[in-house]
Amino acid sequence: MNSNETIVEQAANLQRLLGGQRVAQLKDPYPTLELRLDRINRMIDMLVRHEQRLVEAVKEDFENRSHLMTRVSDIVPTLENLKYVRKHIKRWMKPEKRKSKFPLGLLGAKSKVEYIPLGIVGNISPWNFPVQLALGPIAEIFGAGNRVMLKPSELSPQTSQAMAEIIAGSFDETEFSVVLGGPEIAAEFSKLKFDHLLFTGSTNVARLVSQSAAPNLVPMTLELGGKNPVVISSTADIKLAADKVMFSQTFNGGQICLCPDTVFVPEHLVEEFVTACQASVKKMYPDIANDETYTHIITQRHADRLRELVAEAKTTGARVVPLYDTESSGRRVLPSLILNADMNSRIMQEEIFGALLPIVGYTEMHEVVDYINERPRPLALYYFGHNKQEIEKLTFQTTSGGMVVNDMAAHFLQSDLPFGGVGESGMGAYHGFDGFKNFSHAKAVYVQSKLDPFRLLRPPYGKFFESAVSKQIKP
Ligand code: NAD
Repeated sequence: MNSNETIVEQAANLQRLLGGQRVAQLKDPYPTLELRLDRINRMIDMLVRHEQRLVEAVKEDFENRSHLMTRVSDIVPTLENLKYVRKHIKRWMKPEKRKSKFPLGLLGAKSKVEYIPLGIVGNISPWNFPVQLALGPIAEIFGAGNRVMLKPSELSPQTSQAMAEIIAGSFDETEFSVVLGGPEIAAEFSKLKFDHLLFTGSTNVARLVSQSAAPNLVPMTLELGGKNPVVISSTADIKLAADKVMFSQTFNGGQICLCPDTVFVPEHLVEEFVTACQASVKKMYPDIANDETYTHIITQRHADRLRELVAEAKTTGARVVPLYDTESSGRRVLPSLILNADMNSRIMQEEIFGALLPIVGYTEMHEVVDYINERPRPLALYYFGHNKQEIEKLTFQTTSGGMVVNDMAAHFLQSDLPFGGVGESGMGAYHGFDGFKNFSHAKAVYVQSKLDPFRLLRPPYGKFFESAVSKQIKP
């Protein structure tokens, strides 16, 4: 879309795109396996062919993000997702046999679930993994037989523009169209009468999206953020835990929805953990000020916000442990640990989305469980250690989108696990078969027995019918 177009013209264009998709969808409401595979193959070819253009665009958007980083975090997982769906889609499309109530099955009745495409799915995506979060879900959206309209982030404009152009080169706009623009156009986009809307982004914007989708009762999948707790047990290997936590914390400059956001460490192990975190980052980034694999913050405004969080934490009594002597500058924000922060400070209240890591000491596991349960439900909960009772307590007495024991974010990479949040970290889940089901309508289909067993339910009713009903009313 041209930036000179007025919002009214842009909104009209959105309606035109949706209308075109609707006409095409009604002509072919149940795409064949071959067509679904063709769409997925076109996605794969497109990504492989234009990989270089995409990694260059991402680098420009982030100012500094290495090619390797974008390949590992955006291109490869998107391809993996597409290939996983390509491999399994034939099986997923098969009807699921279900049991018919006794004795109807014996009389020849049949029950099944058919997975029917929803139709047209809207997809609003964020900037932090700008390719993967925009194009990864398309695997399951196409796999389930849908058409899609994408609104990628305006904060990664080069990548969004590149995706719009390469998608237009591989797909008709009635199959897959891309709409560019900021919050104004995103707001118009989320008012469209989609059959489903996938939104990946912040919890606050999700509230606005939900309001926009409500008048049309558009069902939604919300993939949101929040503060992910990491619980270090006294049984943990502290050095290994620090390596894994700091890897996740510094990956993409800490701009990950699955990042550790507060680490709980047994009081007597706090200093050992701090020292291990220092050693860990220095091993990964010995010269961080010049390291091209250390990703910059997406905008100067976001970088300034991170520095404000640290300054406020300091003035409200926190002990800030910078992990390097070098000063952060511009959009390169270096990792720091934040100890004893005031619970009301912004760093303990807001999702951080940068390599700043609050550490909180604890003495009893129930303190950690209470802390988690008193706050919005996280997207992920991490535990390091080997104590079965502690793992059970955290699994069954707290609620989070997902949970990983002895690693960070590893559940996201498992194609056979549903990925999603709960409460303020989201609703619905995708990935693999769960994603296929999420973007399908599970249609219940019942085929009655030729013997017409329900004839007995039709009036006039006699004594036999009355007595049969009476017999059912018992504990
Ligand atoms: P954001 O909510 O600011 O923006 C996301 C998208 O929403 C963008 O495309 C934007 O244009 C659009 N948008 C903005 N205003 C809108 C409106 N009024 N109506 C409709 N759409 C609107 O999020 P962000 O800053 O791009 O991304 C960071 C957030 O996303 C973090 O909270 C992070 O945790 C979350 N996130 C979640 C996941 C997940 O899978 N759960 C993955 C990545 C990021």
